[in-house]
Amino acid sequence: MRKIIFAVFLTCFLHLSGWCVDKTEITRVDPPNWWVGMKENSLQLCVYGKDISSSAVSIDYAGVTVTRVNKVENPDYLFIDLSIAGNTLPGGVDILFTSGKEHKTYKYQLLKRTGNKDTKPSYSPNDFVYMLMPDRFANGDPSNDIIKTCNETQLNRDSMFYRHGGDIQGVINHLDYIKDLGATAVWLTPVQENNEPRTSYHGYAITDHYKIDPRFGTNDLYTQFVSAAHDKGLKVIMDMVYNHVGTQHWFIKSLPSQDWIHQSDTFLQTNYRVTTLMDPHASEYDKHRMTDGWFVKSMPDLNQKNTFLARYLIQNSIWWIESTGIDGFRIDTYAYSDLQFMSNLMAAVKKEYPRFNAVGELWDHAVAYQAYMMQHSKIPGAPETNLPGLIDFQLCFAVSEALNKPMDWTDGLTKIYYTLSQDFLYSDPDKNLTFLDNHDLSRFYSVVGEDIRKFKMGIGFLLTTRGTPCIYYGTEILMKNFSNPDGKVREDFPGGWAGDKLNKFTYAGRTPAEQDAFGFVKKLAQYRREHEVLRTGALTQFVPENDTYVYFRSNPTSTVMVIMHYGDKGQQLDLARFNEKLSGYTKGINIITGKEVSVAKPITLDGFSIQVIKLQK
Ligand code: CA
Repeated sequence: MRKIIFAVFLTCFLHLSGWCVDKTEITRVDPPNWWVGMKENSLQLCVYGKDISSSAVSIDYAGVTVTRVNKVENPDYLFIDLSIAGNTLPGGVDILFTSGKEHKTYKYQLLKRTGNKDTKPSYSPNDFVYMLMPDRFANGDPSNDIIKTCNETQLNRDSMFYRHGGDIQGVINHLDYIKDLGATAVWLTPVQENNEPRTSYHGYAITDHYKIDPRFGTNDLYTQFVSAAHDKGLKVIMDMVYNHVGTQHWFIKSLPSQDWIHQSDTFLQTNYRVTTLMDPHASEYDKHRMTDGWFVKSMPDLNQKNTFLARYLIQNSIWWIESTGIDGFRIDTYAYSDLQFMSNLMAAVKKEYPRFNAVGELWDHAVAYQAYMMQHSKIPGAPETNLPGLIDFQLCFAVSEALNKPMDWTDGLTKIYYTLSQDFLYSDPDKNLTFLDNHDLSRFYSVVGEDIRKFKMGIGFLLTTRGTPCIYYGTEILMKNFSNPDGKVREDFPGGWAGDKLNKFTYAGRTPAEQDAFGFVKKLAQYRREHEVLRTGALTQFVPENDTYVYFRSNPTSTVMVIMHYGDKGQQLDLARFNEKLSGYTKGINIITGKEVSVAKPITLDGFSIQVIKLQK
């Protein structure tokens, strides 16, 4: 009797888990499910299982046709091309695998689409993004801190190289904090499984594209997080990595084909020079090394010219959007991947979700390189990347220089002026993601020498200039350190762990200086959120003079004047040269102090200051 019950149980279990019958195993099918009613009616299943390539494949389901069955070098893979007609009904599709006398059936789920994912707005300059590393933000579930089946089982909050236990539940628990700061979107560094034996916390060495890392939570919890964020008016940006994976990725341990990754006789490291992609004088050696060299030894470099891999990655991207309702992507190491693949990827995403936004990480040293990679680039010879925006490293570097060097013809505040003047190179500069620091760069408060006046200048600039502003977790409470090594700028948010002595998530837990910084960010974020002119208004900048940089944001109904002054002593600013923007106005409200300011006479500037003035008639 017991045996019969067990056999029934086993049969039910096998049915529920997707496959049934006999000895040959289908280990996995990716994507794990799909939907009917997608605009793209073809789908390619990656089927993995012992000797699966010896099987013939057939499907008997109205609307679903097997158009091609592809074998690759490794006999444990089959790539099955399906066509799914527009009127196909959702349901379980039986895929029949036949090898000799052996038959196997795999039930593949085609789901009904839900929500308005293809028409809802993505993130944009209307948003203010809060970026965080989930391992270092808050530990909402200590039960998942150590997962014994993972390759890295050590938890050590005293070491920057180990996992600290932060997770998705921790982010859910603090969505109100993020919202209270004034953010309208949240970007988590990658949450996909990183089952690497060492330093797996950062998330950029994915080992399963379809699975949330168990130390961060489950796929269901991630979907709950997206819903919880949406309920609070926060959008969610997912961090995607296409250039490389972790050594422990399941498909790296059993490569479909040798050209799945870039391989060479001796280890080839990338030269990290994006420039080689557009430099008319670049050598073939350097170009090859840039794209085909590995980022680091522990991250195999994917060859997206392999069409099966390209399809795998593209479908995975669409799967996350459709299954969770995320609002946008941030794309890691953008330019290290095959550019034609990156273009195809965004085209495929936009085919399903025309408004979906993505920004690419391009950590280089000239505006032109960034502009080259933006969609519809005006630069001769630039490819159509379909990439809406770039992470604006150039503006970040400019702010750092502006606040650390006295102004002269080229340096100091002038650097910001020159950087923004090159916006003519971009097809749409507003699409850039602007920031002051991130998980790879020194913390902004340290960059400005822990001078709160300069800190406010930077924050004030970030929230009033063009682009989609992004703040890195902890910057708002003056977390500091230089990024050498980068773990130093990835410290735990105080209060995120039970038993933390300090809790900076609360007003009471913050020092007066930290509260001052938090309040400053919050005030400007709120003003920006409530005043369209700061989000989408035209930007007019004046040539910096006398250690002072002045710019305006304006639309037909509203004008805001911003004055940044570098120098200890302060000075009087004569307003005559700003007449083209000031005419018709006699006064304004300084939105930081709340005080009325006359614009009919010179304005007094304090040392190292920023003023944001809403002009009034
Ligand atoms: Ca945890």
